[in-house]
Amino acid sequence: MRGTVLERPGEIRLEQRPDPTIVEPSDAIIRLSATCICGSDLWPYRGVDAATGPSPMGHEYCGIVEEVGPDVSIISTGQFVVGSFFASDNTCEICRAGYQSSCIHREPVGAIGTQAEYARIPLADGTLVATPEVPPDDLVPSFLAASDVLGTGWFAAVAAEAGPGTTVVVVGDGAVGLLGVMAAKQLGAERIVIMSRHESRQQLAREFGATDVVPERGDEGVAVIKELTDGLGAHSVIEAVGTRESMLQAIGACRPGGHVGYVGVTHGDLPGRELFFSHTHLHGGPAPVRRFLPELMELISNRTIDPGRVFDLTLPLEDVAEGYRAMDERRAIKTLLCL
Ligand SMILES: [Zn+2]
Repeated sequence: MRGTVLERPGEIRLEQRPDPTIVEPSDAIIRLSATCICGSDLWPYRGVDAATGPSPMGHEYCGIVEEVGPDVSIISTGQFVVGSFFASDNTCEICRAGYQSSCIHREPVGAIGTQAEYARIPLADGTLVATPEVPPDDLVPSFLAASDVLGTGWFAAVAAEAGPGTTVVVVGDGAVGLLGVMAAKQLGAERIVIMSRHESRQQLAREFGATDVVPERGDEGVAVIKELTDGLGAHSVIEAVGTRESMLQAIGACRPGGHVGYVGVTHGDLPGRELFFSHTHLHGGPAPVRRFLPELMELISNRTIDPGRVFDLTLPLEDVAEGYRAMDERRAIKTLLCL
């Protein structure tokens, strides 16, 4: 099969790789319906996260089950399935508490690489969620978004306690931030402020439910948020970037007693004193997307939400390198790769 490999920072190649096979009895093999590039794939692409030698890329996926191992009993061949970037058993105590991305048996799907034609998914019964029937093709981008960016934005909104009557600030206008807006809207937030200086992203944020746009950043951005909230700060802040600056902006925009949901993989140390005196609840980490998949897949199936709109560039898999370049240069929010 063809699969994407990061040879070294900045160098993406589509290579012939062995077809995946069942390794563990709980595995499934899926044929991807489509795949995509994640903002977090840009960290190793840019050399910020050091990769050790050529690495298979991609951790977002949806597709048709081709084969299952002998221990798989819930998932069956022919089903259309979505899973998250951590395989999980969905039965351990951590999973049952809703933190499947910290499952005691978790396995990173990114190590397998889903920017490819086929993928082996470990712990298939716990990891994968099937639709009642194979969905129409036009819903595939939205299901693919559910695999990571929608689920991650949703977790951030839940972690930030977005809900009726709240003002929610979203730091980050990438796919996760934009879908954090969508999640906040669905969860009933009263006011949703996107911090963005890109016109096309501001527009999409408004269509997803943002009521206000703040282009300022850093201390200046925090000052504008304070003005908008009677000097108090927001009840809920979604942090969807992962830099020291964005995290401090998120904490600064939050009121004492408020909640910050952070899902950008934090790069850089945070100052303890500022954290201490912020008096905010901080909750985040790798999103337990699996917790939300059944609900999100239902909302997509009945066309209540259309998260696939974050894909503003569609390329064939053979042009994957251009997909990375477009996202790296911020010409694209998110690249869908067709098979
Ligand atoms: Zn588990």
